[in-house]
Amino acid sequence: MKTFCGRANPTTGAMEWLEEDEDYDYHQEIARSRYADMLHDKDRNSKYYQGIRAAVSRVKERGEKAIVLDIGTGTGLLSMMAVSAGADFCYAIEVFKPMANAAVKIVEKNGFRDKIKVINKHSTEVTVGPDGDMQCRANILVTELFDTELIGEGALPTYEHAHKYLVQEGCEAVPHRATVYVQLVESKRMWSWSKLFPVHVEAEDGEKIIVSPSEMENCPGVPSVCDIQLNQMPSSDFTVLSDVVTMFSVDFSKPVRSAPTYYRVQLEPVKSGKAQIVLSWWDIDMDPSGMINCTMAPYWVKPTAAFQWRDHWMQCVYFLPNEEPVLQGEKVYLTACRDEYSVWYKLQKDRGEEEKKSDIRVESPVCRCQAHLLWNRPRFGQLNDENRTRQYIKSLMKVLKTDSVCLCISDGSLLPVLAHYLGAKQVFTLENSAVSRSVMEKFFKANHLEDKIKIIEARPELLTSSHLEDKKISVLVGEPFFTTSLLPWHNLYFWYARTAVTSHLASNVTVLPQSASLHMMIVEFQDLWRIRSPCGTCEGFDVRTMDDMIKNSLNFRESKEAEPHPLWEYPCKSLSDPQEVLTFDFRKTVPQHCLSTEGSIKLLRKGKSHGAVLWMEYHLAADISVSTGLMQISNEKGNCEWNPHCKQAVYFFSSVIESETLSDLPSAVTYAINFDTKTGDIAMDFKLL
Ligand code: SAH
Repeated sequence: MKTFCGRANPTTGAMEWLEEDEDYDYHQEIARSRYADMLHDKDRNSKYYQGIRAAVSRVKERGEKAIVLDIGTGTGLLSMMAVSAGADFCYAIEVFKPMANAAVKIVEKNGFRDKIKVINKHSTEVTVGPDGDMQCRANILVTELFDTELIGEGALPTYEHAHKYLVQEGCEAVPHRATVYVQLVESKRMWSWSKLFPVHVEAEDGEKIIVSPSEMENCPGVPSVCDIQLNQMPSSDFTVLSDVVTMFSVDFSKPVRSAPTYYRVQLEPVKSGKAQIVLSWWDIDMDPSGMINCTMAPYWVKPTAAFQWRDHWMQCVYFLPNEEPVLQGEKVYLTACRDEYSVWYKLQKDRGEEEKKSDIRVESPVCRCQAHLLWNRPRFGQLNDENRTRQYIKSLMKVLKTDSVCLCISDGSLLPVLAHYLGAKQVFTLENSAVSRSVMEKFFKANHLEDKIKIIEARPELLTSSHLEDKKISVLVGEPFFTTSLLPWHNLYFWYARTAVTSHLASNVTVLPQSASLHMMIVEFQDLWRIRSPCGTCEGFDVRTMDDMIKNSLNFRESKEAEPHPLWEYPCKSLSDPQEVLTFDFRKTVPQHCLSTEGSIKLLRKGKSHGAVLWMEYHLAADISVSTGLMQISNEKGNCEWNPHCKQAVYFFSSVIESETLSDLPSAVTYAINFDTKTGDIAMDFKLL
């Protein structure tokens, strides 16, 4: 059977639907899944085991049989723990077929076939009774259905249903309870992910300030959670305005209600400032006493105890709809609203009329200005990056002349405005989508530029002379940035677009950036390697079946692929110097032939070669370049600083995936890299010497 998969084509910048093998989706799902990361999460696993043992003992002490329901069994891990702890029988429910199959194999391999029944269903389809999936209701409910936001994977409706139909009243639950914590902060850095700050441009005729439409300023943004590795956010990047407070908790041993509701707490600011951001995380108590606690608290909250690194649970950043000044000691009210799957926040100065629960409107935030649909959070951060903007301004000043006719090709970029203020005679911008067209229109209007910059809503290959008022382009600019890009080199779409508009370019055209280069470095990750590394045994259970399955999916089609990761969140150290491996000359058109390179890169530092990191650098004009990857190597240990607004490409070496023990000192890594100009994709291969 075939399925259709959406994929952006880096040579056209457009989404395409490709016919793929039925297996493709599932291999992607497994290869990129968080199962390996969960199995490596020692803290989580050992606490679940302790909690399960305690729950089984409590049931046994009451003289009852211990019948366990494990919803979302995955590898079967928690069910195997339950049986090992003395449970009499366990129903292991798993909706994802490949995982249910894996659970059957793993359960069998570990010798638990008689006591664990794997059921490949969504829990809400499970039946109870003599002819049902379960003989009787369970008296122990075990689940791990949580995401970084706690409820985003549907834990609440699943629990609600389970209490109604699948478990006995007064059942034991592991975890017993979850608690969500919040802290109010001011942070220019995080706020810059949600609002566009004014951009200052020193033009010849004085300073110009680019402002965003008021509609944008008051927009609550998009409801999707912003989950990050908050432990990588230095304390100098935010100011704490309140203590950590408990926002709400859920007792999983009692009936759970998933219907939308809200929770309100009173906060007394510990400092005056601008309330902009609510930081949030949760913990789970595995038992009623609260003695077995697994917490996601960040470094400044949790005492120095050894941290468990994990990527499947992080911390949340919520953006208040508007920034609110708060005064130290002057109480404010923070409201958490939630529906079945997500949470959002409001801050109020006073409690107002006592509202009845049924009266409060719990509408989730919806972007009204469209900018939050066009620009994701890192993109907002990038547009707000003053240093970056300065590089573009400097290079535009170098290339623009008073008679310049400028065409900008990038999605939702401020370059056309910069080009106009910096003296271009005429500016056109190509906006490929209706959303980017509409956002840019509002933007130009707010800055009284609607007559100055012409938006062309056309694909580059459909550009006509009449779009350009029969003018030839003397300066072609791009950041380049395109919303469909996943990997760093996908922004090479600019090169394809440049090629498509060639007939409209003046013979002496200046292209900015004039070229791009692909750079590479060999690194040792502090932790990220875990997400692709096999686990072997987990709490004494053999999970190699899962390891093999992941390996098989990673090697699907015999070609491993680079994957995008925002490396500012994932510390690593460089083992080699950064090396330029390919260059792309935008002054010329895309060649017919492939661009390939081979070579070897020397390892200079001791460490485990986990993989190669690749990124693009854009050479805007003579001596001015911007990097979308490495910013600097900050010390002699090789710690790296990465561009915080971009994802870099990570290629994990097979030594990580095979979990080979590496000698600490391979001397070099050989590479072969091929940019296929027909597809816009880069294939690569590495060998450790
Ligand atoms: N219990 C395992 C895996 C947790 S991941 C462990 O702790 O290691 C959560 C799993 O639950 C996923 O495999 C997902 O497919 C499954 N799942 C989520 N909601 C479910 C539901 N309502 N019914 C059945 N399976 C569900």
